[in-house]
Order: sequence, then C-alpha cells, then structure tokens
Amino acid sequence: MTVIVNPATEEPVAEVPEATVEDADRAVAAARAAFLGWRAVAPADRARLLRRLGALVEEHVEELARLETRNVGKPIADARGEAAMVAEVFYFYAGAVDKHYGETIPVAGGVDLTFREPLGVVGLIVPWNFPAAIASWKLGPALACGNTVVLKPAELTPLTALRLAELALEAGLPEGVLNVVTGSGSVVGRRLVEHPNVAKIGFTGSTEVGRSVMEGAAGTIKRVTLELGGKSANIVFADADLEAAAAGAPYAVFGNAGQDCCARSRILVQRKAYGRFVELLVQATEAVRVGDPEDDATEMGPLISAEHREKVSSYADGTVVFRGNTPNTRGFWFPCTLVEATNEDRVAREEVFGPVAALIPFEDEDDAVRIANDTPFGLSGSIWTRDVGRAVRVARAVETGVLSVNSNTSVRVATPFGGFKQSGFGRELGMHALEGYSEVKNVYIATDG
Ligand code: NAD
Repeated sequence: MTVIVNPATEEPVAEVPEATVEDADRAVAAARAAFLGWRAVAPADRARLLRRLGALVEEHVEELARLETRNVGKPIADARGEAAMVAEVFYFYAGAVDKHYGETIPVAGGVDLTFREPLGVVGLIVPWNFPAAIASWKLGPALACGNTVVLKPAELTPLTALRLAELALEAGLPEGVLNVVTGSGSVVGRRLVEHPNVAKIGFTGSTEVGRSVMEGAAGTIKRVTLELGGKSANIVFADADLEAAAAGAPYAVFGNAGQDCCARSRILVQRKAYGRFVELLVQATEAVRVGDPEDDATEMGPLISAEHREKVSSYADGTVVFRGNTPNTRGFWFPCTLVEATNEDRVAREEVFGPVAALIPFEDEDDAVRIANDTPFGLSGSIWTRDVGRAVRVARAVETGVLSVNSNTSVRVATPFGGFKQSGFGRELGMHALEGYSEVKNVYIATDG
C-alpha cells in the first residue's frame, strides 16, 4: 500500500494499493472485454451515460474538490473550479458523440465513405498537478469515441481518479469501460505503454518521461499523444495596460504554486517599461494570499512534496527581486519568488514547476519573439499590448500551441490545447481531441454495373 499525504500538513490522508504488472494486465483485459459492448452502445445512449456522469460529478463538486485539496494542497477555490470543469468536460463530450462523423468523397464508379472508428483499449497516464481535470480531458473524448480505458493516476494523487471511477459506475457506464490502476510509473505506466492490447497512450507529464513513453510505444507502433512540460513567456510591451498586466502576472505563474505546465515563468518586459512594471509586479505579488488550502480566501498553497521543494529551491538563487512569506507550520511551503535573469540562466531554461519567475528585459518586437522562442518548449504564453496588429504578428511568430492576448488564460473546454516542440503533440479539449482517440477508416463501395 502507498500512504497518501496532505502536502499542507504532512499528515496521511489515505492508503491506496500499489498495483503490479499483473494488476495492470487484469485492467487491460477488463477494458478489452468491455470494448465491443461499449462501441456498440447507440450514440444517443453513450451520450446519455456521459451526461449522467457529468451530472453526478456536478452533484459531487464539493466532495471532489475537498479530496483534491487534501491530496494536492491546492486552494479549495481552485479545486472547486477544476471539479466543475470535469463536469463540463463530460457534458461537452456527451454532446460530441454524434457530431464527430465521417465524410463522403466524390470518386468514379461508386461511393467513398469514411468512418471514425474507436481505437480499442487506451491507456491514460496523468500527472499530479491537476489530477481530476487532466484525467477528464482524456476520459471525455476517449469514451465518447467508443474506446474503453485504463487510467493510471500519478503515484502521489490517485484519490479523485478512484472516486471518478465509482461515479462512472453509478452513472451506468458498464463494468470494464473505465478502469483505474494505482501504481508507479515505472511499473504500471511502463506496462501500459508496452502492452500489446493497448492501442494508444494519452500521456501528460514531464518531457523526460514523455520521451521514454514515445520510445516504449515504438515496439507496438502504439499511438501516443504527449502533453509535456513548458517554459512559457509572458510578453509585456511598453504600450500595454501595465497595471492589468502586472496585476495578472503573479497568478499566471504562482497559480497552483507554479506547478502548472502553462505557467508563464519567463516574464519578458520591454526595457522602456521595465522599472515601472517590476514595481507594480512586486506590489501584486505581495498581495498573493498564501496559506491553508482549505480556506476559501487562499490563493496559493504548498508544493506537492518535500522532494519537489528541494528541486524548486535550487532555482531560487540569482538576483532575487522579491521573496514572499509562507505559513510557519508543517507543509511543503515555498514562497513566491521573482528573480532577475537572462534567458541563458538555468531558471529561464528549465521548467521549475514551482513559484519562481524569471524577469527578463527585451528591446523591441523582434527581440521579444527571439527570446520567447529560444527554448526547447512551446506550450503556452501571453502577449500584453494595446496594438492589435502587433498582438497578431507576435501571436503568429511565437512557437507555442496556446496563446492569450491581454489575458493569461489557456484552457477552455471547447478549444484545443497542446504543445509545439518538446511540449508534445496532439491536442486535448474541444472537438480536436476526438482526432486523438479515433482512427479514420476509408470504405469504397462500387455502384457501377
Ligand atoms: P511525470 O512525467 O513524472 O509523471 C507523469 C505520469 O507518468 C505519472 O502518472 C507517472 O507515474 C507516470 N510515469 C512515470 N514514469 C513512467 C514511465 N516510465 N512509463 C510510463 N509512465 C510513467 O510528471 P509529473 O511530475 O507527475 O508532472 C509534472 C510534469 O507534467 C511537468 O513537466 C508538467 O509540465 C507536465 N504537465 C504537462 C501538461 C500539459 O498539458 N502539457 C499538464 C500538466 C502537467
């Protein structure tokens, strides 16, 4: 058994089984046995079951949010928002079941049709930072397309995944359609990646593990989608609404204690406005409420583990412009930290995954784009300017999958989300996610003579 710990108190909150290769094989066998039945469920009925699951999640938002807060240490207000999003994701994909269809293509001598076929059993491997939300981004499209799934939550944060599986059964999804296996990445995750009866891996996690997933999938030519790390830029031009940009910037990097693949952890500021912006940013960062995650007013909680805190603290050297406070209690706390850097410094090159932001000045538009793109990652980012032409030019030039202008939001249920470069490939959310959980089949029917 693995003991699950509350990162805000260091107290145990639950024990979960440490699954073996045999447990993973049993889950794959159950998913395989359920596949033909699930794909044969009439579209309207499959939609109804997913809608019912959405409704049950909605009824249990508070319970799921409390569970997530105790397991991840994230502020309860955020956890409520994420649990509500899980319901919205199931509603969206319930509605997508009968809107993801094939084509007829003009050809000589007959009729040509395409079908969107499910893949079979898909393995879903998710990280610890947004456990329920990221699981739902994969479960929704996978189930809507008629696949059955084996979901492997992160070792540290399995509690909401286990609860979701119970709610799925309560909603009426047949046994074997949604299986959860709790265990380590190197044992259970690896087995799913290599298993001959798993058709695809939907993976979210670090670029390093993503690379090994891709290698492991090669043996069976398994489909993979990879949602990996990021080092996103928040680009602030001198002509921007500096007050608004500075007010939003702390939440764009310190949200979820910086443990967010979309964290705008490189704050690029045009030199002309640098001094004024930093002044405003420090004021805004001072106002971030760090504390007990179960308090409704808290905006930032602790990091996930002591080990992770060690890693994060190794980045907080350099020229520190601001370092915030943390509660004087047990828990894996780390303060909001602003560091002046160049884009060559380690804090600007590697994913910190904690509340540490690198402040980097730039000269002009070309310089901003050059610095923003000088990274192996390409997930997210923001552009702050009042010049609409510049906003569009820079948005087209920055090599990332998801951008926001005069805003720091990246994720919406109806819009595609995913990375360029070493942030991965494939898209989650929106109708685009359905492409990753289905295969196009082409059928020609001769009609002449
Ligand atoms: P991680 O890569 O260590 O683990 C992710 C998952 O992979 C876990 O479930 C883990 O058990 C499993 N795993 C580990 N080794 C494996 C192996 N050899 N084979 C198969 N599975 C294995 O990531 P993490 O520390 O849990 O999460 C943080 C990382 O996730 C960050 O890099 C972050 O940027 C990334 N992330 C990306 C997105 C995105 O959408 N792009 C979203 C959230 C998090």
